[in-house]
Amino acid sequence: MFKTSLYWFNNDLRISDNLALLQAGMRSHQLICVYFVEPHWFAPNRYVGQGMGQARWRFLRESLDQLQRSLAELGQNLLIVYGDSLSSLVHLIRKYSVEAVFRSNHSGFYENQYWLLLQQRFPSVEFQQFHTHTLFRPDELPFNLFELPSVFSQFRLQVEDMSVRPPLGPISRLPRSPDHLDDGAQIVPSVGHFGGTPFAGGEYHGLQQLEDYFAGDLPAQYKANRDQLDGWQNSSKLSPWLANGCISARQVCATIKMYENRRIANQSTYWLYYELLWREYFHWYAYKNQQKLFYFRGIKMHKPLTSFYPERFQKWCNGETPYPLVNACMKQLNQTGYMSNRGRQIVVSCLVNELDLDWRYGAAYFEQHLLDYDVAVNWGNWQYLAGVGADPRGKRRFDIARQTESYDPEKKFIRKWQGDINSGELDSCDYNGWPIA
Ligand SMILES: Cc1cc2nc3c(=O)[nH]c(=O)nc-3n(C[C@H](O)[C@H](O)[C@H](O)COP(=O)(O)OP(=O)(O)OC[C@H]3O[C@@H](n4cnc5c(N)ncnc54)[C@H](O)[C@@H]3O)c2cc1C
Repeated sequence: MFKTSLYWFNNDLRISDNLALLQAGMRSHQLICVYFVEPHWFAPNRYVGQGMGQARWRFLRESLDQLQRSLAELGQNLLIVYGDSLSSLVHLIRKYSVEAVFRSNHSGFYENQYWLLLQQRFPSVEFQQFHTHTLFRPDELPFNLFELPSVFSQFRLQVEDMSVRPPLGPISRLPRSPDHLDDGAQIVPSVGHFGGTPFAGGEYHGLQQLEDYFAGDLPAQYKANRDQLDGWQNSSKLSPWLANGCISARQVCATIKMYENRRIANQSTYWLYYELLWREYFHWYAYKNQQKLFYFRGIKMHKPLTSFYPERFQKWCNGETPYPLVNACMKQLNQTGYMSNRGRQIVVSCLVNELDLDWRYGAAYFEQHLLDYDVAVNWGNWQYLAGVGADPRGKRRFDIARQTESYDPEKKFIRKWQGDINSGELDSCDYNGWPIA
């Protein structure tokens, strides 16, 4: 037993099916639960944006508030620290003589660098992490992580029949925090007004959405509907809660299996599991490829032939390109923090193939605005579509006119999100600069 341990929350903002928190609780007399809000998330980044946009921050803040309430019911307290995680952790470990640090594994390269640095800095402190974000643990996979198949289909064939461990129930007991635990009256950035999203953060709302989605016929029709550009019921909408760990992939998987046993098992219910396997694949892909996830050339040897046109990028972000369908999708993202999977594929293809832009700017824009931003899934999908990732076929080009014909033939989606307003020329012409004949 450790006298005092620290639990570092990250993308596991829940008290059910959380093995890492359970272990921390069982093995400690006192426990400090902490979440770090990093100031650099709100500062300008190299992709002319910032890491965390308003909508994402609001969803995260709601999730943290709910976690704080759940922990309070267990006699615990969640410190929400606005500060750089590394130096704040060093401070907390020293101040409270922490003997062990627990967390869930993270597939992000930088998050893992911090973890390694801490271990070097505190050789006498015990560091323990548990896989709570994925369906499987690396030791359950039928291959070494560094031999992860280079394409998804090979991965899927090897894992899809494996059984997924059932999720754990909610934690019912946790040790108390040390007396006089000082949260320093943290001032975290305020949550601005963002009224456009139907998603509310937190474990309670995530479990509620899981229950609602599986309460009727929707999962049995998922495959036919999932490509629709709009409509709450056309896909599970679980991604923001999954990305923040308000619910776990194993909980979703167990709910699919239960639905299949009690109601119906068909191609659609299988396809929901299939999509969870894509998510799984991108997580192991991120573990394997580490910082290559962010390289312009991805995991390939050659850089793509794109450049950077600030005006084009701005038009793409604002939904002011010559392509109304793309504009509608971008406006939907800007107003709600969500975009359908089909929409994401179309706007990526536009950025890479029609606007000839560097894909990383688009990925960073998604990072800022998507409520469901997940480092592995986002950057992995972008690499895939930009032709520098796990796709042996190279770049994926979507014919925007044909996509409009197939998915928005009556232009209802375009009109709803005003994709046809401000859709002008791609590049401005400065007539003053033209040679005079
Ligand atoms: C360029 C691009 C970037 C993306 N970035 C993210 C991201 O940051 N976070 C994120 O969660 N998803 C991302 N996706 C995947 C996908 O678009 C969303 O997961 C999905 O649209 C979320 O809606 P849903 O929960 O209703 O999904 P559903 O269709 O109901 O699927 C169920 C779950 O399966 C997983 N899933 C579905 N599609 C994919 C996929 N293509 N790749 C991996 N997992 C998938 C998600 O966890 C999702 O919640 C991205 C896709 C693209 C093309």
